[in-house]
Amino acid sequence: FSEISLKDIYQLASSSFPLCMRHLFDKLRENHHLKHGGRMQLGLFLKAVGLKLEDALAFWKSEFSQKVGAERFDKEYSYSIRHNYGKEGKRTDYTPYACHKIISSTPSVGDHHGCPYRHFRSCRLVDLFNQKFDVLYFLVYIYYNSAMHTIHCESIRATQKSIVHMLQIFCFSIIVVCNCRSLFNSEENLRAALGKMGVGGRSLDDILDKVRSRHYQVACTLTFEAVHAASCDSGINHPNQYFEASQKILQ
Ligand code: SF4
Repeated sequence: FSEISLKDIYQLASSSFPLCMRHLFDKLRENHHLKHGGRMQLGLFLKAVGLKLEDALAFWKSEFSQKVGAERFDKEYSYSIRHNYGKEGKRTDYTPYACHKIISSTPSVGDHHGCPYRHFRSCRLVDLFNQKFDVLYFLVYIYYNSAMHTIHCESIRATQKSIVHMLQIFCFSIIVVCNCRSLFNSEENLRAALGKMGVGGRSLDDILDKVRSRHYQVACTLTFEAVHAASCDSGINHPNQYFEASQKILQ
């Protein structure tokens, strides 16, 4: 890989990063923080793009210090960046994640890593709401089973039974509604993100069709072709391959 300098990274992010890395980059700049999964996915990508260790440390510090302060960054976060570059611990020279690893990852609430074609959701509240009602449903179920074994009075059992059934129906309805909204939001957010990359019209519809049929890498390939107005016959199977192919066209 050729080297890139810190000052180039902002322009390269908007011209040559695939959607997964653009999303992480934007979230890092917006929140001045990324959780571990996001730091690993973006950090190793940037390393393979050609960002030197000193520049990587300066880049992450410039963002994180706005949130946690420079001292805490040095204490808690700089180690893992040096570790990724093989300068700490076992001194392994870690390689960036390929699409299949990113697509099969399981980001949770507050995470921004993963493949946007598969995982995109900006409505984190819906996820949180959904999770809380999953837990409530489970607790009601446990309570119901134990209550039915310990209460012997028939009329109390019948009342408990109907209350529990009502609660279960309520939780189940919330879960169903949240999941439907979540699905709807995920497509809406993907539409907006692709729009920001300049993808619209027929290309956008084709990409969303591929996402619906779970062909995420094909959707990414179509995005590449729409953004660069060039074909990508090999298909996208690695974020760094996307970056290199983009640079070949743009340079
Ligand atoms: Fe990133 Fe690969 Fe998903 Fe494209 S298909 S957004 S390169 S993980």
